[in-house]
Amino acid sequence: MRVIIIKRTLIVVIVIVILLVTGLYGAYTEVFNDNEQKVIAIIIDDFGNNGKGTETFFKIKERLTVAVLPNMPYTVEDAERAHQNGFEVIVHLPMEPVKGKKSWLPPDSITSDLSYNEVLKKTCKAFDQVPYAVGFNNHMGSKITSDKNMMRIILEEAKRRGYYVVDSKTTKNSVIDEVSEAIGIKHYDRDLFLDAKSEYGVYKQVIRLAEIAGEKGYAVGIGHVGPEGGTITARGIMDALPELEKMNIKIVYVSQLK
Ligand SMILES: [Zn+2]
Repeated sequence: MRVIIIKRTLIVVIVIVILLVTGLYGAYTEVFNDNEQKVIAIIIDDFGNNGKGTETFFKIKERLTVAVLPNMPYTVEDAERAHQNGFEVIVHLPMEPVKGKKSWLPPDSITSDLSYNEVLKKTCKAFDQVPYAVGFNNHMGSKITSDKNMMRIILEEAKRRGYYVVDSKTTKNSVIDEVSEAIGIKHYDRDLFLDAKSEYGVYKQVIRLAEIAGEKGYAVGIGHVGPEGGTITARGIMDALPELEKMNIKIVYVSQLK
C-alpha cells in the first residue's frame, strides 16, 4: 500500500516537473519569437571579379549576403567560395543606367534596346550562372529599374525561381517595389550604402545602419568589393562587429528578414 502511494506521489511530482519545464520552455520560445531582436542585413556587391578586398571579406565569419555579377571570370568561383564561407549568394544583375557609357556595363547586361524576349533570355542566362543564388539585386540600372514592362519580365522570372529581390535604389523612380507588390515576390529596399573613403568611415556607416534597425526593426546596407575600396569596406565592417554586439544588433541573411 505504502509503495503504491509513494509511486503515485512520484508520478504526480514527475508530471508537475514536466508541466513546469514545458511551461517555462513555452515562455522562453514566446520571448524569442517576440521580434524584439533588431537585425541588419549587409550585402556586398560586385563579386565575380576576384576583386580587391575579396580575401578580406572571406575572413568575416558573419552572415553576409554577397551579390555576384554574371558573365565574369570568377562568377562561379566567387559564388562557390562565398557559399562555402557561410555567406548567402544572390545574383547582381547588371542593367543600363540613365547616365554613363554602355561600355561601362558588363557583358550581357539588360539594356533598353533589347526586345522583351531578349530581356527574358539574358535574365535567365544571368540567373543560371550563379550557383546557390536565392535572390537578386541590380547593378547600376537607373534606366531599367524605372521601366515597368522590363521589370515585370525580370521579376516574373525571379519569382518563378523562388528568388527575392533587393532594390539597390540607384534611382528614386524605381518601380521594383510597385511591380513586386503587384506580382507577389518578396522584396526589400537598400537603406544605406556602406561605402566610405576610410575604414572609420565604413565603421560609422555600419553603426548608422544599426541605428536605423533600432528604429524600424531591420535595415539593409550595401557595400562593394573591388578597387574603389573593397579592402577598406571589409575592414570597416570587421571593426564594427564588437559595437554591434554591444548594441544587441545581429547580422542576418537577407532571406531571414521579415
Ligand atoms: Zn554593382
